[in-house]
Amino acid sequence: MIAELIGEMFCGERRVIMKRKPSLVFLVVLALLVGACGAPVPPTSSLAATPTIAITTAPTASPSATPTPGPTETPTPTVAPSLTPVPTATPVPSPSAYPTGSLPAGTSYVRYGSRAYPVIAITVDDCYSSAAVAADLAVFQKYHVNATWFPIGYVAALYPDLWRAVDAAGFPIANHTFDHQNLTLKTYDQIVKDFKDDNNTLSSIIGHPIMPFARPYGGSLNDTVIRAAAAAGEKAVINWDTTDGDTSGGVAGYTDVNRLISLGEGGKNGSIILMHANHEYTTKALPAIINYYRARGFQFVTLGQMFGVPGPVPYGPEPATWIPTPSPSPTLAPPTPPYY
Ligand SMILES: [Zn+2]
Repeated sequence: MIAELIGEMFCGERRVIMKRKPSLVFLVVLALLVGACGAPVPPTSSLAATPTIAITTAPTASPSATPTPGPTETPTPTVAPSLTPVPTATPVPSPSAYPTGSLPAGTSYVRYGSRAYPVIAITVDDCYSSAAVAADLAVFQKYHVNATWFPIGYVAALYPDLWRAVDAAGFPIANHTFDHQNLTLKTYDQIVKDFKDDNNTLSSIIGHPIMPFARPYGGSLNDTVIRAAAAAGEKAVINWDTTDGDTSGGVAGYTDVNRLISLGEGGKNGSIILMHANHEYTTKALPAIINYYRARGFQFVTLGQMFGVPGPVPYGPEPATWIPTPSPSPTLAPPTPPYY
């Protein structure tokens, strides 16, 4: 626990994305121009009028921005003349075109996914409190939030029915070691055993393999941990770049829900947020954190989605709210000291 208290708390720049609405006057003039030319009314005029906006918070334009045919307008299916000031809208992908990253061969170490997309991966560690696990799960289900669980092996073994329920709800479960000890103080063989014991325990509870992702206690990391994770069959060692601070700051800190909300809102594109199901304060902070990101066009993804590794996904992608760009591969940070 102590090492987690000093775990990294990355408070990256907050990305505040404003939806620029097209000028009403501009749109009215545009509508008249288009109508006078007999062009069909473009169905997504807001996108055409706002080519520089990568994200919109609503899939449809405001009522004032939708050119409504007037009683004297008779749009015809003729080809629209080229309006040079208005670039062609980039097609918005369907939900099935949801981009994911990918991992190279071998075992990677990552702290975040691609910065190209407004996606957030919530991860829930430890899970000492079965009540908190159930409450957090209910919040995720209520808000349709994808999240990835990292229960401690020996703790999860105390509540097998609970973890069968989490699995049955479609949520991915990954490896937070069986013993929850500082891995940098262990030998290679001990670390391999810790990972394997956790995989075996959780897989036997839920009846199928867990996700091939390992998160060391407190993010404790060195080259031996990476090699041991590879030997245990892990595809990646995954830490985080953002945390809500729900194990730091002492009692006054982790019981301050507003503090948890503020820290939890520190993510940006591709962020992995560290939380814990150890007490009720995280549960209380979750709705505000979820709403914060949703209001800014972020989507919540599993780590499997973020890194292109097949696994359970509770909820399908939300309607696409951003225009993707190429290069969705994640940024891989090499494991260099100092470790945390
Ligand atoms: Zn932990």
